[in-house]
Amino acid sequence: MSVRAPSLRGLPLRVLAALSLATLAGCAHQAPLAPIAPAPGLPNLGVVKTQLVAYHDSGAYDRDLARVAGEAAAWIKARAATLPAGARPALVLDIDETSLSNWPQLRINDFGYITAGGCDLDRGPCAAPVWEMMGRAAVIAPTLEVYRQARAAGVAVFFITGRPETEREATARNLTAAGYEGWAGLVLRTPGTHNPSAADYKAAERARIEAQGYTIIANMGDQDSDLVGGHAERGFKLPNPFYFIP
Ligand SMILES: [Mg+2]
Repeated sequence: MSVRAPSLRGLPLRVLAALSLATLAGCAHQAPLAPIAPAPGLPNLGVVKTQLVAYHDSGAYDRDLARVAGEAAAWIKARAATLPAGARPALVLDIDETSLSNWPQLRINDFGYITAGGCDLDRGPCAAPVWEMMGRAAVIAPTLEVYRQARAAGVAVFFITGRPETEREATARNLTAAGYEGWAGLVLRTPGTHNPSAADYKAAERARIEAQGYTIIANMGDQDSDLVGGHAERGFKLPNPFYFIP
Protein backbone atom coordinates (compact mmCIF):
# COMPACT_ATOMS: atom_id res chain seq x y z
CA MET A 1 0.00 0.00 0.00
CA SER A 2 1.40 3.39 -0.92
CA VAL A 3 0.99 6.60 1.06
CA ARG A 4 0.27 9.70 -0.91
CA ALA A 5 1.09 13.23 0.13
CA PRO A 6 -2.00 15.42 0.63
CA SER A 7 -2.87 17.32 -2.54
CA LEU A 8 -2.35 21.10 -2.54
CA ARG A 9 -4.44 21.48 -5.63
CA GLY A 10 -7.21 24.03 -5.32
CA LEU A 11 -5.70 26.01 -2.46
CA PRO A 12 -5.58 29.80 -3.00
CA LEU A 13 -2.18 31.27 -3.90
CA ARG A 14 -1.87 33.21 -0.64
CA VAL A 15 -2.38 30.03 1.36
CA LEU A 16 0.32 28.24 -0.67
CA ALA A 17 2.71 31.17 -0.12
CA ALA A 18 2.09 31.06 3.63
CA LEU A 19 2.68 27.34 3.69
CA SER A 20 5.96 27.77 1.79
CA LEU A 21 7.20 30.45 4.19
CA ALA A 22 6.30 28.29 7.17
CA THR A 23 8.17 25.38 5.61
CA LEU A 24 11.26 27.51 4.98
CA ALA A 25 11.17 28.86 8.53
CA GLY A 26 11.02 25.31 9.84
CA CYS A 27 13.97 24.23 7.69
CA ALA A 28 16.13 27.09 8.89
CA HIS A 29 16.42 25.44 12.29
CA GLN A 30 17.06 21.91 11.06
CA ALA A 31 20.36 20.37 10.17
CA PRO A 32 20.37 19.44 6.47
CA LEU A 33 19.42 15.87 5.88
CA ALA A 34 22.19 13.58 4.74
CA PRO A 35 21.87 12.80 1.04
CA ILE A 36 20.81 9.34 0.06
CA ALA A 37 24.12 7.71 -0.88
CA PRO A 38 24.92 4.47 -2.68
CA ALA A 39 26.65 1.65 -0.86
CA PRO A 40 30.01 2.91 0.39
CA GLY A 41 33.32 1.36 -0.54
CA LEU A 42 33.34 1.82 -4.28
CA PRO A 43 35.85 4.34 -5.68
CA ASN A 44 34.79 6.88 -8.26
CA LEU A 45 36.39 6.07 -11.60
CA GLY A 46 36.95 9.67 -12.62
CA VAL A 47 38.62 10.50 -9.32
CA VAL A 48 40.81 7.39 -9.53
CA LYS A 49 41.99 8.30 -13.04
CA THR A 50 43.01 11.73 -11.80
CA GLN A 51 44.93 10.08 -8.95
CA LEU A 52 46.68 7.70 -11.37
CA VAL A 53 47.87 10.55 -13.59
CA ALA A 54 49.13 12.41 -10.52
CA TYR A 55 50.90 9.27 -9.28
CA HIS A 56 52.66 8.90 -12.61
CA ASP A 57 53.42 12.56 -13.29
CA SER A 58 54.57 13.44 -9.77
CA GLY A 59 57.54 11.09 -9.92
CA ALA A 60 56.15 8.83 -7.20
CA TYR A 61 55.65 6.01 -9.70
CA ASP A 62 59.27 6.24 -10.85
CA ARG A 63 60.48 6.26 -7.25
CA ASP A 64 58.45 3.14 -6.44
CA LEU A 65 59.78 1.38 -9.54
CA ALA A 66 63.34 2.26 -8.57
CA ARG A 67 62.88 1.08 -4.99
CA VAL A 68 61.66 -2.39 -5.96
CA ALA A 69 64.20 -2.70 -8.78
CA GLY A 70 66.98 -1.72 -6.39
CA GLU A 71 65.98 -4.53 -4.05
CA ALA A 72 65.92 -6.96 -6.97
CA ALA A 73 69.39 -5.92 -8.13
CA ALA A 74 70.82 -6.28 -4.64
CA TRP A 75 69.27 -9.73 -4.22
CA ILE A 76 70.46 -10.95 -7.62
CA LYS A 77 74.01 -9.80 -6.99
CA ALA A 78 74.16 -11.38 -3.52
CA ARG A 79 72.45 -14.62 -4.54
CA ALA A 80 74.46 -15.13 -7.71
CA ALA A 81 77.66 -14.83 -5.67
CA THR A 82 76.63 -17.75 -3.47
CA LEU A 83 75.92 -20.19 -6.29
CA PRO A 84 78.47 -22.90 -7.05
CA ALA A 85 80.50 -22.84 -10.22
CA GLY A 86 78.55 -24.31 -13.06
CA ALA A 87 75.21 -23.16 -11.72
CA ARG A 88 73.02 -21.47 -14.26
CA PRO A 89 71.30 -18.59 -12.48
CA ALA A 90 68.48 -16.87 -14.31
CA LEU A 91 66.33 -13.77 -14.00
CA VAL A 92 62.82 -13.70 -15.45
CA LEU A 93 61.31 -10.39 -16.49
CA ASP A 94 57.84 -9.52 -17.66
CA ILE A 95 57.74 -6.94 -20.45
CA ASP A 96 54.78 -4.53 -20.29
CA GLU A 97 55.01 -2.09 -17.38
CA THR A 98 58.03 -4.07 -16.17
CA SER A 99 60.68 -3.70 -18.88
CA LEU A 100 58.84 -1.33 -21.22
CA SER A 101 56.35 1.43 -20.49
CA ASN A 102 53.11 1.80 -22.43
CA TRP A 103 52.24 5.09 -20.77
CA PRO A 104 51.45 7.09 -23.97
CA GLN A 105 48.97 4.43 -25.02
CA LEU A 106 47.42 4.09 -21.56
CA ARG A 107 47.06 7.84 -21.20
CA ILE A 108 45.58 8.63 -24.62
CA ASN A 109 43.04 5.84 -24.05
CA ASP A 110 42.13 7.32 -20.66
CA PHE A 111 43.12 3.92 -19.20
CA GLY A 112 40.74 2.03 -21.46
CA TYR A 113 42.01 -1.14 -23.13
CA ILE A 114 41.38 -0.78 -26.86
CA THR A 115 41.80 -3.95 -28.89
CA ALA A 116 40.62 -2.93 -32.37
CA GLY A 117 41.20 -0.08 -34.78
CA GLY A 118 44.27 2.05 -35.34
CA CYS A 119 46.50 4.04 -33.03
CA ASP A 120 46.25 7.82 -32.91
CA LEU A 121 48.64 8.95 -30.20
CA ASP A 122 47.59 12.59 -30.53
CA ARG A 123 43.83 12.23 -30.20
CA GLY A 124 43.29 8.55 -29.38
CA PRO A 125 42.19 5.91 -29.28
CA CYS A 126 45.27 3.73 -29.68
CA ALA A 127 44.64 0.01 -30.04
CA ALA A 128 47.05 -2.08 -27.98
CA PRO A 129 48.06 -4.53 -30.74
CA VAL A 130 48.87 -1.66 -33.12
CA TRP A 131 50.79 0.19 -30.43
CA GLU A 132 52.82 -2.92 -29.60
CA MET A 133 53.66 -3.51 -33.26
CA MET A 134 54.94 0.07 -33.50
CA GLY A 135 57.76 -0.87 -31.09
CA ARG A 136 57.80 2.57 -29.49
CA ALA A 137 57.42 1.67 -25.81
CA ALA A 138 60.00 3.44 -23.66
CA VAL A 139 62.44 1.70 -21.38
CA ILE A 140 61.67 1.36 -17.69
CA ALA A 141 65.10 2.49 -16.62
CA PRO A 142 65.30 0.84 -13.19
CA THR A 143 64.54 -2.52 -14.80
CA LEU A 144 67.21 -1.99 -17.45
CA GLU A 145 69.65 -1.39 -14.59
CA VAL A 146 68.59 -4.68 -12.97
CA TYR A 147 69.07 -6.35 -16.33
CA ARG A 148 72.55 -4.95 -16.78
CA GLN A 149 73.64 -5.88 -13.27
CA ALA A 150 72.26 -9.38 -13.69
CA ARG A 151 74.14 -9.83 -16.95
CA ALA A 152 77.33 -8.51 -15.32
CA ALA A 153 76.88 -11.12 -12.57
CA GLY A 154 76.59 -13.91 -15.11
CA VAL A 155 72.84 -14.28 -14.76
CA ALA A 156 70.86 -15.29 -17.85
CA VAL A 157 67.77 -13.18 -18.49
CA PHE A 158 64.51 -14.47 -19.89
CA PHE A 159 61.53 -12.36 -20.86
CA ILE A 160 58.12 -13.97 -20.46
CA THR A 161 55.28 -11.89 -21.86
CA GLY A 162 51.59 -12.22 -22.50
CA ARG A 163 52.10 -10.63 -25.90
CA PRO A 164 51.35 -13.03 -28.76
CA GLU A 165 53.97 -14.78 -30.84
CA THR A 166 52.92 -12.67 -33.83
CA GLU A 167 54.52 -9.68 -32.07
CA ARG A 168 57.92 -11.32 -31.60
CA GLU A 169 59.87 -9.26 -34.12
CA ALA A 170 58.35 -5.93 -33.04
CA THR A 171 58.82 -6.77 -29.37
CA ALA A 172 62.46 -7.84 -29.83
CA ARG A 173 63.13 -4.68 -31.82
CA ASN A 174 61.53 -2.56 -29.10
CA LEU A 175 63.54 -4.27 -26.34
CA THR A 176 66.79 -3.78 -28.25
CA ALA A 177 66.01 -0.11 -28.94
CA ALA A 178 65.31 0.33 -25.23
CA GLY A 179 68.77 -0.99 -24.36
CA TYR A 180 68.16 -4.65 -23.53
CA GLU A 181 70.82 -6.75 -25.20
CA GLY A 182 71.92 -10.34 -24.95
CA TRP A 183 68.87 -11.98 -23.41
CA ALA A 184 68.80 -15.75 -23.19
CA GLY A 185 65.16 -16.14 -24.16
CA LEU A 186 62.03 -14.28 -25.21
CA VAL A 187 58.85 -16.23 -24.50
CA LEU A 188 55.60 -15.05 -26.09
CA ARG A 189 52.22 -16.70 -26.10
CA THR A 190 51.80 -19.21 -28.85
CA PRO A 191 48.39 -19.67 -30.47
CA GLY A 192 46.10 -21.77 -28.32
CA THR A 193 47.66 -20.73 -25.03
CA HIS A 194 45.34 -17.78 -24.47
CA ASN A 195 42.86 -19.75 -22.37
CA PRO A 196 44.86 -20.31 -19.20
CA SER A 197 45.36 -17.33 -16.93
CA ALA A 198 48.57 -15.36 -17.23
CA ALA A 199 49.62 -16.90 -13.92
CA ASP A 200 49.26 -20.47 -15.21
CA TYR A 201 50.96 -19.70 -18.50
CA LYS A 202 53.90 -17.89 -16.92
CA ALA A 203 54.52 -20.43 -14.16
CA ALA A 204 54.57 -23.20 -16.76
CA GLU A 205 57.08 -21.26 -18.85
CA ARG A 206 59.32 -20.75 -15.81
CA ALA A 207 59.19 -24.48 -15.17
CA ARG A 208 60.30 -24.98 -18.76
CA ILE A 209 63.30 -22.71 -18.18
CA GLU A 210 64.19 -24.65 -15.04
CA ALA A 211 63.98 -27.86 -17.05
CA GLN A 212 66.81 -26.47 -19.18
CA GLY A 213 69.02 -26.48 -16.09
CA TYR A 214 68.56 -22.89 -14.94
CA THR A 215 67.90 -21.77 -11.38
CA ILE A 216 65.53 -18.80 -11.48
CA ILE A 217 66.84 -16.70 -8.64
CA ALA A 218 64.55 -13.74 -9.32
CA ASN A 219 61.31 -13.04 -11.13
CA MET A 220 60.13 -9.47 -11.60
CA GLY A 221 56.76 -8.28 -12.88
CA ASP A 222 54.09 -5.65 -12.42
CA GLN A 223 51.20 -8.09 -11.86
CA ASP A 224 50.67 -10.66 -9.15
CA SER A 225 49.96 -13.08 -12.01
CA ASP A 226 53.57 -12.60 -13.13
CA LEU A 227 54.79 -13.93 -9.82
CA VAL A 228 52.47 -16.59 -8.40
CA GLY A 229 52.90 -20.28 -9.07
CA GLY A 230 56.45 -20.79 -7.87
CA HIS A 231 59.43 -21.70 -10.04
CA ALA A 232 61.47 -18.75 -8.80
CA GLU A 233 63.42 -18.24 -5.61
CA ARG A 234 62.14 -14.74 -5.10
CA GLY A 235 59.56 -12.47 -6.71
CA PHE A 236 59.70 -8.70 -7.09
CA LYS A 237 56.45 -6.83 -7.67
CA LEU A 238 56.66 -3.49 -9.42
CA PRO A 239 53.82 -1.00 -8.99
CA ASN A 240 51.05 -0.92 -11.58
CA PRO A 241 47.80 0.67 -10.43
CA PHE A 242 46.84 1.32 -14.07
CA TYR A 243 45.42 -2.07 -15.07
CA PHE A 244 44.99 -5.64 -13.82
CA ILE A 245 45.78 -8.96 -15.47
CA PRO A 246 44.41 -12.03 -13.68
MG1 LIG B 1 53.28 -6.49 -17.25
